[in-house]
Amino acid sequence: MYPELFLYINGEFIGVGGERKSEDVTNPATQEVLGRLPHATAAELEHAVATSQTAFLKWRKSSPLQRSEILRRAAALARERVDDIAQAITFDQGKPIAEARAEVVTCADHADWHAEECRRIYGRVIPPRDPAVRQIVVREPVGVCAAFTPWNFPFNQAIRKISAAIGAGCTIVLKGPEDSPSAIVALAKLFHDAGLPPGVLNIVWGVPHEVSDFLIRHPLVKKVSFTGSVDVGKKLAALAGLHMKRVTMELGGHAPVIVCDDADVDSAVQVTMRMKLRNAGQVCVAPTRLFVQSDIYTKFRDQMISAFETAKLGPGIDTSTTMGPLAHARRVVEMERFVADAKSRGGNVLTGGFAPDLGGSFFAPTLVDNLDDTADLMQKEPFGPIAPLARFNTLDEAIARANSLPFGLAAFAFTEHAKSAHRLATELEVGMVNINHAGMALPETPFGGIKDSGMGSEGGTETFDGYLTTKFVTHV
Ligand code: NAD
Repeated sequence: MYPELFLYINGEFIGVGGERKSEDVTNPATQEVLGRLPHATAAELEHAVATSQTAFLKWRKSSPLQRSEILRRAAALARERVDDIAQAITFDQGKPIAEARAEVVTCADHADWHAEECRRIYGRVIPPRDPAVRQIVVREPVGVCAAFTPWNFPFNQAIRKISAAIGAGCTIVLKGPEDSPSAIVALAKLFHDAGLPPGVLNIVWGVPHEVSDFLIRHPLVKKVSFTGSVDVGKKLAALAGLHMKRVTMELGGHAPVIVCDDADVDSAVQVTMRMKLRNAGQVCVAPTRLFVQSDIYTKFRDQMISAFETAKLGPGIDTSTTMGPLAHARRVVEMERFVADAKSRGGNVLTGGFAPDLGGSFFAPTLVDNLDDTADLMQKEPFGPIAPLARFNTLDEAIARANSLPFGLAAFAFTEHAKSAHRLATELEVGMVNINHAGMALPETPFGGIKDSGMGSEGGTETFDGYLTTKFVTHV
């Protein structure tokens, strides 16, 4: 039922065995061991980079049409294999099977988008001062990229980096999430079967900081892309800076939700609940601080409690489940810490606040109010199904409180007032603003944050920017 796990280096799949280190992969819904993940040896890490460089020297000269065709074939294979890939994601990551299927299908769209966009990586001609001179600007692939992707959307986070790198003409060595590795192995198989030449994509596993340290320092690696926590992102960006490597950082968030008293409360509750409980709240753009204007506070709060209490917790493989377990037992401990901190500060747990005994890493959807803005829940990313509610009186106050944290990823707002909507869109310090709607992470829309939430965009027409250099050529 659960696939075998491999490294993928120079077109070869390498499994567990011999002297090689490996680790267990468990099902967070049941805690049963699903399989073993092989770690790369130091020699294999070196081989992965060397083979990426060799492949790069050819791949950089491939035509955009060839790159586009491979991306399209990978997209078609993802759609064909959706059932098996989604089931394995549900087993090792925990999310409901419908969410896992949606992730895979959306990823096929991501590959298709990159297949289209990579044929439009244009340069430009600059009108010269001297008519005898020709001046052009060309975009060239950066080279070997090192990428590190997390466990919350294991297929999605990886395919965006892989498609952008190979579409731009780069090669890539990727370390995926040890907790949810099946999606990454499935991706390697997709691209292998789609005809990607050996060495263009390499997958390695190991102790995260050891792998990232090796790859980022390696002189042949020219670019680093990471999705994960702010703390780890800052460490990797600092190391990359030391070696003058370019970076794309997609880090954590603490999305404010501003619900004005002129909002459609029913819709605000439904959108917020859906976005918050998706993937058990383990989403970097998940709504987190719910700021609600005083006149509608009680109505919104009561409806949110009811909405949270409709969630049906259980193993993701059960189609009646609407919220699965957290991806790992350590996340439950984190949720318990947030609740303990809230209670110690006089917070009022409106619903949830406990880990139900369902045999896995489950945590009940939780709402807390009566906290001041210094509580952990108001400051630190919970990355789980837990959110604080707070009252506000004026839009000035709500915007100032929303902007008060170092995060700057996503924000949500609900208002029927055009002037308020305009102010919110303009003044919220984030990379993505959602007003009366939640529509992010689509292939055609740029995804990324500002402030501590990172730098660079994935998706949209910006998607190749981090994987290309700019060269100016002048000649007579
Ligand atoms: P963690 O920070 O230990 O690990 C998160 C991911 O980063 C894992 O996939 C891990 O393999 C990787 N990682 C950790 N240290 C690394 C290193 N030195 N080099 C390379 N990769 C490294 O924490 P966790 O308990 O797994 O997750 C909790 C936190 O991670 C959350 O609070 C959230 O902020 C963050 N996270 C963010 C995203 C996102 O989409 N931005 C996704 C998953 C996790």
